[in-house]
Amino acid sequence: MINVTCFKCRRRFDLDPVFVGAELRKLKVKNPRHYQAICPACHTVNKVSVAEMQDELDAVADEIEALVKEQAKAAEEARKRAKAAAKAKKESAKDEKKKKPAGRKK
Ligand SMILES: [Zn+2]
Repeated sequence: MINVTCFKCRRRFDLDPVFVGAELRKLKVKNPRHYQAICPACHTVNKVSVAEMQDELDAVADEIEALVKEQAKAAEEARKRAKAAAKAKKESAKDEKKKKPAGRKK
């Protein structure tokens, strides 16, 4: 675990290196130098040096890789589901029209 002390409220909290590694991968930056850890107590963003976490990140590199893949797969599936749901909605709207060709009944 990576221990962080919030610079604002001094609260200590732990970061999961696997989670941090996956988050860093998702950043649009090639070699991010800091991870932005949000304090659970005051929600202040604490910049944690990636260099300082490097050993811990390296130790769980395989797990990070697996998590990144899993998250990418989950995101892809969510997209597919959303697409299918949108399509199903459209189809059922079409069916509704077919069922009631005449105007609305009160
Ligand atoms: Zn804080």
